[in-house]
Amino acid sequence: MTIKIKNTDSHCPPRNVFQAMFSGFMLKCPSCNQGRIFGKYLKVNHQCDHCSEELHFHRADDAPPYFTIFIVGHIVVPLMMAIEVAYKPNLWLQLSVWLPLTVALCYWILPRVKGALIGLQWANYMHGFHPDHDEAEEYGGHVPQPVVETKV
Ligand SMILES: [Zn+2]
Repeated sequence: MTIKIKNTDSHCPPRNVFQAMFSGFMLKCPSCNQGRIFGKYLKVNHQCDHCSEELHFHRADDAPPYFTIFIVGHIVVPLMMAIEVAYKPNLWLQLSVWLPLTVALCYWILPRVKGALIGLQWANYMHGFHPDHDEAEEYGGHVPQPVVETKV
């Protein structure tokens, strides 16, 4: 399946949205599909360590947790209800199964959803991913600099 966007900017070649979102879902750079998006669990690298594509332009904000809750809720709740109706297990058994499963699913899905959203933004030239983007204008004259971490 290929999703192409209609691109009105002649100097911006169309990008494959599905491929970029899938690369992001696999925690890979949407541009080269080789480098890693995240340096830590949810900390997006300033740029790709393979192709140097700048990734800090993303504006995922609250969307990844929203979609993660939506997805995990639609997996866990029907399963829990079906088990309850079919077997009526004790409450302690329900809690000992569904709570860890919910936490584990959220932990696994959250960075993948964030990566897919970054891929979506990259493929559609959203925010700073557009070549004509003026970063200073977006931040009111103050351009955020990458955080340099020093190891002690
Ligand atoms: Zn890359």
